[in-house]
Amino acid sequence: MAQRLEGQELAASIRDRLSDHVDQLTEYGHRPTLATLHMGADPGAATYVEMKQRDCDRLGVDGRHVDIDADADAQTLYDAIERLNADPDVDGIMIQDDTPAHVDWMSAVRRIDPTKDVDGLHPDNLGRLLAGDPRFVPCTPLGIERLLVANGIAVEGADVAIVNHSNIVGKPLANLLVQKTDGAAAAKAATAAPNATVTVCHSATEDLTAKTRAADIVVVAVGIPEFLDGSMITQGTAVVDVGVSTVERENGEREQVGDVEVETVDPKASHLTPNPGGVGPMTRAMLMHNTIRAAGLRADVDRRLFPEQVSS
Ligand code: NAP
Repeated sequence: MAQRLEGQELAASIRDRLSDHVDQLTEYGHRPTLATLHMGADPGAATYVEMKQRDCDRLGVDGRHVDIDADADAQTLYDAIERLNADPDVDGIMIQDDTPAHVDWMSAVRRIDPTKDVDGLHPDNLGRLLAGDPRFVPCTPLGIERLLVANGIAVEGADVAIVNHSNIVGKPLANLLVQKTDGAAAAKAATAAPNATVTVCHSATEDLTAKTRAADIVVVAVGIPEFLDGSMITQGTAVVDVGVSTVERENGEREQVGDVEVETVDPKASHLTPNPGGVGPMTRAMLMHNTIRAAGLRADVDRRLFPEQVSS
């Protein structure tokens, strides 16, 4: 049976450390503030936002929420972003990925001040990641990397297959994992120096199984239950299951599942993320990490308290 990569436990220990950092910033007179924006009607997305606000409460971060009617026009959302950009008390802004069809979510993300873009998805931040000088690394990729490193999985030199090429998972994760950073740059980015060999796969990839079977680490983020089965990996592969789907069981109960067919992957994998309980909690912890980092940079406190981590 594969060793579980427990995201809940690691996220809790990260939150403990972050909580100390929040206390220090607050003592210094700058309580970190995260603004969440939700313009959409999906109750699942609303629950995600509530969880993020709860994380703020747990850490002593000032969580502010702005709800925008899903029928409003795009300008209403853009105006709300502008107000938060201009608010000196707001350190971080994130927009839940649930905008209605008439509002392009990425167009809204591009309007966030990059120094407040704690999801790390503004082109400025994605570009900095690509260039090896990240300000905020997108939360899911950073959480995955932390999970691998904290569990002693050798990433340097490893072959990694990522089944996803979206802007929030596959592309930033590939860019993060291929970085060859020296110690100082890695400390600034608060990441290890992954230095992996990465193959990015998607629905047009030919012979996907050949790619995943050749990998030491497989990250799957497709959103199809049981997409990755045991025949698609070799013995000893570390598997990270990012996908989130809801299935209805025979008894009528609804359950969250990932992309992995656990029954066949478990006996072959060296490591496997539980799902739920693997990548999800890490993603949320990294949002808090980025928010507190944003607060430190804005208050210029990091330069005094954590000089080894400072990147502007
Ligand atoms: P997305 O944009 O829909 O990405 C899905 C990816 O899967 C695309 O790259 C797609 O490729 C690929 N794909 C679909 N069918 C495939 C197939 N048959 N073979 C190979 N690749 C295939 O979604 P996303 O926003 O990146 O999220 C992906 C999943 O991860 C979702 O289930 C989402 O809920 C979950 N997620 C979880 C977290 C977390 O914190 N736990 C965070 C983010 C996302 P094409 O573009 O070529 O179709």
